[in-house]
Amino acid sequence: MFLFDHLPVPHLRTPLPGPNAAEWLAKDDQYVSPSYTRYYPLVAERGSGCVIEDVDGNRFLDFTAGIAVANTGHCHPEVVAAIQDQAAKLIHMSGTDFYYRPQIELAERLAKAAPGPTPKKVFFANSGAEAIEAALKLARRHTQRSRVVAFLGSFHGRTYGAMTLSGSKPIHRRGFSPLVPDIHHVPFPLESEGCLDPLEDLIHRIAPPEEIAAVFVEAIQGEGGYRVSPPGFLQSLRDFCDHHGMLLVIDEVQSGFGRTGKLFAVEHFGIEPDILCLAKGIASGLPLGAIVAKADVMDWPPGSHASTFGGNPVACRAALVTMDLLDNEYTANAAARGKQLQSALRKLPSGIGEVRGLGLMTAADLPTPAARDAVIQAAYHRGLLLLGCGERAIRFCPPLCISSEQIEVGLTIFEESLREVCNVPALAAC
Ligand code: PLP
Repeated sequence: MFLFDHLPVPHLRTPLPGPNAAEWLAKDDQYVSPSYTRYYPLVAERGSGCVIEDVDGNRFLDFTAGIAVANTGHCHPEVVAAIQDQAAKLIHMSGTDFYYRPQIELAERLAKAAPGPTPKKVFFANSGAEAIEAALKLARRHTQRSRVVAFLGSFHGRTYGAMTLSGSKPIHRRGFSPLVPDIHHVPFPLESEGCLDPLEDLIHRIAPPEEIAAVFVEAIQGEGGYRVSPPGFLQSLRDFCDHHGMLLVIDEVQSGFGRTGKLFAVEHFGIEPDILCLAKGIASGLPLGAIVAKADVMDWPPGSHASTFGGNPVACRAALVTMDLLDNEYTANAAARGKQLQSALRKLPSGIGEVRGLGLMTAADLPTPAARDAVIQAAYHRGLLLLGCGERAIRFCPPLCISSEQIEVGLTIFEESLREVCNVPALAAC
């Protein structure tokens, strides 16, 4: 079904980076913002399923899905066909000022798919950070309270509100002050016992609870190292928010759309958010973000928030097909392949620490940040694309269409890369 299905992968035909890649890298260096963080010099040309081909014809097995975005696989033929069909009909009309079918259809689909029985409404944005900004504005406006709580280790994006909510790395904030006022951080719990103690401390010492609009939390911290909420934590948080009249905002920008083996990660924990923030995998790679809020929470009047491109017709059509593919096949595959991946990682002879996550949102700790970075480099040079997260973890977030054989191939390369790094004395904490 995918273009590269019958070709050997990985397949490296030049040293890396190849000659064509080297030319593009030089131009990138001259013209593109230096703020981007690239782990290795991959210059992608085409993608198909779990495979990326670079500008020199080298084929890589992709365990990144373009940072957890290409959940249905790169360029799934049904997604491509929907995009082509919609592009020939209507590319843009601005859903904030006019109506068109794909936006309304997708809103209905998301509202019905979001966890919990309460009726929902949807606001469309273009990215994860924009979804978070929308949630922050809606929470403050709806509650008429100013303070907001978020967790250390969280990542919510890079616009001012989202950056202030994030508690991941100083580089995200350094030099950008002043940030948004009245945002507080508490530690993300590692275990259920006492998991609300820091929040209780906060409301007793610093932030009167009647001034807190919302608590923002990732069900599984993404950038923070694929840390899964401990059992009972989200339920306790739900009760805490209800007790104090605060909104519970769940950021599923990375964990949503089948990645954890359920459509939304929060379904593993049995709670209903007041606002759910979505982006990344929602439209198989087209820029789209959304918040799905309880209908009585989404009570802002016309003109109070909008976006020219948010909910663009082409992106919405891609999202509708994405949801069909996830429902029919790929979410279940993510659950099965995630189990396979985690049990194999836990059996690896040496070199890795904790293995954690759910489904294909799985991470493994390396002994040091340097060892982690070296393993990612070694894997790239063998044709496997990996990314890091947290302080010293490697994240495994391939497209959800990945086969059992592709998992095996990736694991073999990962193990070889580990072995290579463990033989370098300076890195050999393995
Ligand atoms: N929230 C989470 C959990 C994320 O992982 C990210 C991006 O990695 C964002 C928000 C921000 O999304 P975007 O980069 O689309 O603005």
